[in-house]
Amino acid sequence: MKNPLLDDRDLDFQLRAVLHADALLTLPAFAHVSAADLDAMLSTWRRFARDVLLPTYRPMDEQPAVLRDGGVVCHPAMKALWPQLVDLGAITASRPLGVGGQQLPLTHVTAGTLYLMAANLSANGFAGLTLGAGHLIEAFGSDALKAELLPPLYEGRWTGTMALTEPQAGSSLADVRTRATPTAQGHFLVSGAKLFISGGDNDFVENVVHLTLARLDGAPAGTRGISLLAIPKKRRAADGSLVANDVKVTGLIHKLGWRGIPSAALAFGEANDCHGYLVGEAHQGLKYMFQMMNEARIMVGANGVATAAVAYQQAVAYAKDRVQGRPPWAKDPAAPPVRLVEHADVRRQLLRQKAIVEGGTALVLRTAHLADLAAHAAEPAQRHDTERLLSVLTPLTKTFPAEKGFESCALAVQVHGGYGYSSEYPVEAWLRDQKLNTLHEGTTGIQGLDLLGRKVVADGGEGWRALARAVEAGCVRAERASVPAEWTRGVREIAGVLEEATLALAGKALEGDVPGMLLHSADYLDAVSTWVVAWLWLEQAAAVHEAPLRTAFHEGKLRAAQYWLATELPRCRQLAALCVAGEDSYAQVPEEGW
Ligand SMILES: Cc1cc2nc3c(=O)[nH]c(=O)nc-3n(C[C@H](O)[C@H](O)[C@H](O)COP(=O)(O)OP(=O)(O)OC[C@H]3O[C@@H](n4cnc5c(N)ncnc54)[C@H](O)[C@@H]3O)c2cc1C
Repeated sequence: MKNPLLDDRDLDFQLRAVLHADALLTLPAFAHVSAADLDAMLSTWRRFARDVLLPTYRPMDEQPAVLRDGGVVCHPAMKALWPQLVDLGAITASRPLGVGGQQLPLTHVTAGTLYLMAANLSANGFAGLTLGAGHLIEAFGSDALKAELLPPLYEGRWTGTMALTEPQAGSSLADVRTRATPTAQGHFLVSGAKLFISGGDNDFVENVVHLTLARLDGAPAGTRGISLLAIPKKRRAADGSLVANDVKVTGLIHKLGWRGIPSAALAFGEANDCHGYLVGEAHQGLKYMFQMMNEARIMVGANGVATAAVAYQQAVAYAKDRVQGRPPWAKDPAAPPVRLVEHADVRRQLLRQKAIVEGGTALVLRTAHLADLAAHAAEPAQRHDTERLLSVLTPLTKTFPAEKGFESCALAVQVHGGYGYSSEYPVEAWLRDQKLNTLHEGTTGIQGLDLLGRKVVADGGEGWRALARAVEAGCVRAERASVPAEWTRGVREIAGVLEEATLALAGKALEGDVPGMLLHSADYLDAVSTWVVAWLWLEQAAAVHEAPLRTAFHEGKLRAAQYWLATELPRCRQLAALCVAGEDSYAQVPEEGW
């Protein structure tokens, strides 16, 4: 049976034929894992996602959590789903053996997670947030904090959140105001308000731990004065029991999508009795968060891909089933109608979705693979180089699947015609869900600034050069595999165009014109992402040419590669020209001109 969530053939092809991901098992960190273990994991996650998670998606979308007597009541399905997600390893599959994890490669775990996200992104969201909170404590917490918090989080007895955003501090975390005052007992008394906190409370575990950004008394202003605190909903009393910790849910956000997981407004310390525990050193909170952000951003990209993938699978199934109209050249009105998939314009829409979904999958898996190498490669130099490339690719991995995935979901609605706009089919819900991925974990605008203002120019342009080398290695692979020469030539030409643009933009900054450099940073991000995805399509084409047999699946791959290289890649030239020329229409609109 065809998987309605993602194309299993594609995931297997990308892991094996494109990435050769099982080679990770030669690293000492994965000596306890076999290829058969990974296959078993992937097939269990696939089955669970399709048979257990997917049927709960619509009911959870239609019946969001409510706030009752100060506590959040989630959809009843979560009570049964949660222990199953925990048993599956959705929290701990990638965590080290020493903390109760399975220590599997992030690459394979990400592939498995795509299925969970495609089936029910909200249910999986609780696991992702708990993993993120646990990971922060694992990486930076004291031994005492680890002993207290890690077992219940990683065993799924408690859940975790990331509590960064405040009403006045969204994109600009430098403006966080939540305060933490030290006490003689070692804990901090916390007061402040947080907003939009996903999984901010629930009724299916006994406790929730909020990994919170706050300012210690006397902390310097701006990003250098932000600390990380763990704030549990229930804290440990002297007799070892759990007691309420002056953390209140003051409201729930009514949302466009992701309706199965609550987003809460939280108040800490209304009764001046909210205990928080410092994670790591004072004033290092933002640095710690940013170190964790790589993985969080890969996971946002994975969500973008997963949501676009399930919508695409649904669009393909619908287009192969519904009959409507005849080709323009069929003159006989009595001729039988054809299926949607036979109309050229529907095929265009389906191929565009395929190119986005599978190009995005390649990007997400490549980035996860780099994260594995950056953490576990044997040679320090290889870890360092990989880390640099990972850091450049991260804003692209966060943004491309979100922005293009939204377009892809809209095309899935379009393929359904009017039915796609109705709640009779789930594509409208996936379109709503997808929008969040351009917003959380740093909006698209913020990712553009990060890529151009920091990542590509880091260490005198080392960031850019690491990316250019990786793309060139892909071109060499494509040449060796005899991929059509004009495809490889196209990717190399755009490499030159973008390198020139990057140099020109860096030159503006050197001359003191930082606003001029960054004016089109979103267009720069679009251009670099489009080119990087073209590189990854070239590598997929190479993997097809390297295969001993050519199947219909392979043929589809080549046509999607051709599509991206012929229709999308050329756009990079115009985008690069806009960036360098500093086309300034929006900068020049006067205040009263809007
Ligand atoms: C459903 C949902 C779940 C969320 N979950 C969490 C969570 O679990 N934990 C958490 O801490 N937060 C969470 N958030 C908050 C989310 O991270 C913020 O909404 C996001 O960071 C943007 O902040 P903001 O909403 O204040 O928008 P703003 O920062 O006000 O941004 C508004 C617009 O202005 C642009 N902009 C802002 N600053 C700049 C700049 N310097 N340069 C260029 N453009 C700029 C942005 O790109 C955006 O388009 C969630 C949000 C939602 C909607």
